[in-house]
Amino acid sequence: MPRYVYRCDTCDFVFDISHSMSVELERHHCEQCEEEQEVSKIPSAFYSFNQKGSKGKVVKNFISEAKEKLKEQRGEALEREYVGTNNTSDS
Ligand SMILES: [Zn+2]
Repeated sequence: MPRYVYRCDTCDFVFDISHSMSVELERHHCEQCEEEQEVSKIPSAFYSFNQKGSKGKVVKNFISEAKEKLKEQRGEALEREYVGTNNTSDS
């Protein structure tokens, strides 16, 4: 069976799971949480790097990239709010 890389949505723990191609897991037992958690499949483009033996690194990069994007989006939203409320003080 092919192997897929999944990430625990709760603690970001990353693990491989073997399952048939027709299945997409939504929940799996997380070793780190020691209970069943919702999981996200890591895109196979990232998984292909695994063959070179740098899985942990690549996956971590993927995760931090995703987090950076989230932060950026939040930052932009905050900036807009700040500018909006600051305009009134200049009259
Ligand atoms: Zn977990």
